[in-house]
Amino acid sequence: MSNIVSVFAQKCADYDEKNVQSAIDSLFAQMGGVAAVVPQNAKVFVKVNLVREMSPEKCGTTHPEVAVAVCKRLLTVTPNVTVGDSCAGMYNKGMLASVYAKCGMTAIEDRTAARLNQNFETGVADVNGKVLGKCEFTSAFLDADVVVNVTKLKTHSFTGYSGAVKNLFGLIPGMVKVEMHSRFPDLTAFCDLLCDVCEFARPKTVLNVIDAVWGMEGDGPTNGKPKFIGHLLASADPYALDAVAVSLFGDPRSMPVLQAAMKRGLLQDDLANIRFDFERWKAKRIDNFDAPPIDHTDFFGNQLAWINRLAKKHMVKRVHPDKTCRGCGKCAMHCPAKAITLVKRKAKVDQRKCIHCYCCQELCPFDAVRFRTSLLYKLARRFSGKRSKNT
Ligand code: SF4
Ligand code: SF4
Repeated sequence: MSNIVSVFAQKCADYDEKNVQSAIDSLFAQMGGVAAVVPQNAKVFVKVNLVREMSPEKCGTTHPEVAVAVCKRLLTVTPNVTVGDSCAGMYNKGMLASVYAKCGMTAIEDRTAARLNQNFETGVADVNGKVLGKCEFTSAFLDADVVVNVTKLKTHSFTGYSGAVKNLFGLIPGMVKVEMHSRFPDLTAFCDLLCDVCEFARPKTVLNVIDAVWGMEGDGPTNGKPKFIGHLLASADPYALDAVAVSLFGDPRSMPVLQAAMKRGLLQDDLANIRFDFERWKAKRIDNFDAPPIDHTDFFGNQLAWINRLAKKHMVKRVHPDKTCRGCGKCAMHCPAKAITLVKRKAKVDQRKCIHCYCCQELCPFDAVRFRTSLLYKLARRFSGKRSKNT
């Protein structure tokens, strides 16, 4: 039986500095104040979501105004606040300088006494998880006393949704994340990996905040469209927080990472361990939210395993760089399956090698990676009762 945990929600109409600060202050007040959440003088690592270089208006990264507002309040209890992430790709000073600038995160150093992480060392720790043993993590995380996880509500082409639990995957340095995709290409195993990382980080992770003022729908985590949601959410429990966030547009029980958490008893499948007014929340539900179909092809359960095997091979969404590809080679460099080559300065995918991790879509700075689904895939979803939206 999971412990009873609280989730807090606060309306926020836009990214106006005063509105965001007031909403963050209200969330801290509901939690008993900043000092009740973060120990005095603790070394805090604020883990934001900076998936790649993209402007905050695209809504694929934590909005800098939310990070600034959180930092301002953390600084009232400790002078030691560092903000950072390990984005897709290389984890080094040059890459992160560009990401910080493009994502608007330099506002943190301009407007607060918090610092952007410049320590790109890593260390190995024993996760001792269900699927993950020893693993490399960023020293920014390993050396911190506590973590404050400040993420974005967005769709994700592989896992369906990216929120608090998924954001902690970025405690692993960029290229090691790529390796993880090749070690755990299956969605169920990958979600177990996410739970392992989340559980490893959890003793330190005192607070999780979801920036859902504007989220992302469609082809997230980077190619989707901005969607107004109008809330900031917070909880000490990342699974409960994600369940509340997902319930805005879908069924938390259909979300693979939450299913993995439920199987481990980290979240009750009836959500009864969450102290939150779900009845009132129903009125906020966004019925026209464009949630991508989740790529788990277990359409027919264990009874028809051979169909599932066939589905895995033939019915997944395939990635296709389109004519806007500029041949920069970033996707080829990071593809965990080495499935991408550059032919006449255009990316070409060997579909037999592709493991459908969708890292190339996440990474492409020109949004040139598109999806195609086969007729067989569409038919299977239809006849197994799975609709194309996660509702
Ligand atoms: S698909 Fe995108 S990342 Fe890959 S080579 Fe083309 S432009 Fe670069
Ligand atoms: S081609 Fe894209 S989706 Fe396929 S394995 Fe490579 S990075 Fe992943």
